[in-house]
Amino acid sequence: MIPEIDVRRCVAAKEYEGTLSFSFEADASLLEIPFVKFAAPVEARLGWFICRDNETVELSGEVSFTLCGACSRCLAEAEQSFTYRAEAVFVRGESDGEEYGYLNGKIKLEEFLRDSILFALPQRLLCKACGEWEKD
Ligand SMILES: [Zn+2]
Repeated sequence: MIPEIDVRRCVAAKEYEGTLSFSFEADASLLEIPFVKFAAPVEARLGWFICRDNETVELSGEVSFTLCGACSRCLAEAEQSFTYRAEAVFVRGESDGEEYGYLNGKIKLEEFLRDSILFALPQRLLCKACGEWEKD
């Protein structure tokens, strides 16, 4: 399950920072590499910080996932893990195009997580042998 950040409740409770750790099933349609899938749920470890003046929320942390399937070069079994260092800013109200927006005092993380996975996804998956071969 993807949690929400209830900014309004946090501000009322004078909690201005915290951490979140959770895992969730990635949308398989994000993956465009043939014969490759997510090996396990995606893991997210995020820290958040609420600016007291305008309730802008800064988020940073890591989104990691493992892909498994056929090597894009030789079709052998391959598995590789990826970690993306994610950062985002959420402003109150609608997104201004640069930052994410949040409505009704609550931050929904779905779009941010989807974007993070998209940024982190490789063009292809390589087995160890092909990975070594490509380095030379
Ligand atoms: Zn290979």
